[in-house]
Amino acid sequence: MDYKDLVAVYEKLESTTKRLEKIYYVAKLLRDSNDKDLPVLILLLQGVIFPAWEEKKIGVASRLVLKAINVATGIEAKKIEHEWKQTGDLGKVAENLVARKKQATLFSRELSVEKVYSNLKQLADLTGQGTVDKKVKLIAELLTSATPNQAKYIIRVVLEDLRVGTGEGVLRDAIVSAYFPPIFGVYNYCINCNNTVPAADKCIECNSKLDGKFNSANIEKFESYMENYNNNLKSGKDKIKILKIKNLEELQHEVLNNYGVIVCEDEKQAREAYNFLVGSLQEALDISNDFADVALLAKNKGLSGLSNVKLEALSPIKVMLYQKAADILDAFEHVARPAALEFKYDGFRLQLHRNGDKIKLFTRSLEDVTAQFPDIVKVIKENIASRNYILDSEVIGYSPKTRKFLPFQHISQRIKRKYDIKELIEKVPVIVNLFDAVLVDDRNLIKLPFAERRAILKKIANELPYKIQLAEQLVTADNKEAEEFYKKALELGNEGIMAKNLEAPYKPGSRVGYGVKIKPTMENLDLVIVAAEWGEGKRSKWLSSFTVACRDDDTGELFELGKVSTGLKEKVEEGVSFEEMTKLLEPLIEEDERAGKGAKSVKEIRVKPQIVIEVGYEEIQKSLTYTSGYALRFPRVIRLRADKPVDEISTLSQVEEWYYGQK
Ligand code: AMP
Repeated sequence: MDYKDLVAVYEKLESTTKRLEKIYYVAKLLRDSNDKDLPVLILLLQGVIFPAWEEKKIGVASRLVLKAINVATGIEAKKIEHEWKQTGDLGKVAENLVARKKQATLFSRELSVEKVYSNLKQLADLTGQGTVDKKVKLIAELLTSATPNQAKYIIRVVLEDLRVGTGEGVLRDAIVSAYFPPIFGVYNYCINCNNTVPAADKCIECNSKLDGKFNSANIEKFESYMENYNNNLKSGKDKIKILKIKNLEELQHEVLNNYGVIVCEDEKQAREAYNFLVGSLQEALDISNDFADVALLAKNKGLSGLSNVKLEALSPIKVMLYQKAADILDAFEHVARPAALEFKYDGFRLQLHRNGDKIKLFTRSLEDVTAQFPDIVKVIKENIASRNYILDSEVIGYSPKTRKFLPFQHISQRIKRKYDIKELIEKVPVIVNLFDAVLVDDRNLIKLPFAERRAILKKIANELPYKIQLAEQLVTADNKEAEEFYKKALELGNEGIMAKNLEAPYKPGSRVGYGVKIKPTMENLDLVIVAAEWGEGKRSKWLSSFTVACRDDDTGELFELGKVSTGLKEKVEEGVSFEEMTKLLEPLIEEDERAGKGAKSVKEIRVKPQIVIEVGYEEIQKSLTYTSGYALRFPRVIRLRADKPVDEISTLSQVEEWYYGQK
């Protein structure tokens, strides 16, 4: 596939904020793609080269891109830097400068998606001496053949900052739209331009009037149009068959395979049918975690392919998430009585996988951290009586001296540390608290009730004090017993308790409410840092104030919520320090005013949104200062959330919900 076709879609995506339109453009591209290009397209649409769970990163700094633009265009580095300072966007700089250069040479070779991907992938694979020059060459080679707007997107992907908003939700819906028959009501045919387009007032393709309303007159019109369409088909082309359904059970694999469009009884059912298809895809995704695999399955094997995705130890699945309950009564409302109450340990989530002799450990963002925890590998090898499993757990660190639980900060060192692991194991030993079983002895337990999964877990786990244990649990229907359990949990230094429905299945990747958490404090927000300011006086070598943002649920776009500067420590031992934060953010700096203007001016810098922090606050207020429309009163940094990916940070609708909730 030509890279220009992908770039045309990037531009369309950038030009609209409407979700259905984005889905439409992505679906169209996917439909036109062959099996070979599809996996690459899926990655590039998200602006990445590797799937989220791969540890590999492109790892190219802005300076290197600058050099590549210099090599490709022959334009002086100083000039490029000047332009960068002005626009603050190296993608735009590449676009402008390639345009200038193109006028002079008029040389261009058509870039393919494959070529772009292959060069970018090599960037991550290069290590050792002389790699800088090789990397510059790889990028410059692409820029030389690129048109100006292609150059812009190439650079944005190199810098891992695509900004076109193809979040996972849009991609998932686009795969459904690309490979399953459109559902009338969600989609409609445009009689004017012969396209299946989102049901709306106007056709997205030709802008002609389109009555998207779902009513019987419209269905009739639609059917007679389709009849006409089929009658007038040129020979060799397939007729489009309409499937009329009365209930959702009729949506079976064979049926979907044979029909070109689905018509439901009413608008509500049309929505449900659409949600059913999206849900089937999501279920496959939660297990396989690989958009490309699942897209290929949907394309070539349809609905039955999706339902055959197999749970396998050693490949991470998305973890089940929990909702929040206000208190014990509210929790029982959610999960029914009796419920399983458990301590909510304040550590980090760890998926434990074993297949034969191989063991792998994954964080909740599906990062492989096996190498960092040889102590856990040993403990589970010796104390879990199965050679094939996926278990869910919360790992906490404790002080070897006092035997008290340690704050999250200490274990986060263990997640990040890649050297001197032995020493750290002694300093921060950990306890594995097992709380769920997803697969045991090659048996998929997802659909079993929680009580049965817990029983299986109990059977295979040998508990060892301060090493491995089942999460402390109490099954009760009684308010008073529950209150006491909650009190005990807090007294022992836990964050709160979980209440779980005993009958519920394990639902990977969703916050379905089969379990809820109860914690005493106002819910903190997990936010990503998008900008920062250099400090003054004795803090002038550190970044000391951080602009934080939440994300839009659908598009992933980031919205600022305010600046936070308290909660950080001057000394390293006491928690997150300014120095640590500065070190984390420095490689992510996009524009550095200070660098250009001499040492002392205090200025804001923008950073790539990658560092997630938990932020506490007194209150959420309406505000015109920040792009979210809200601001936090007395925000403070609670801790780094190295375990939380940016696409799981707090969402704008959560902020809104809490704003109204607190009133
Ligand atoms: P939160 O991160 O506030 O949404 O709370 C949910 C998290 O609590 C889970 O993702 C786990 O990491 C953690 N957790 C601690 N103890 C348990 C438990 N007994 N059951 C489930 N999750 C737990």
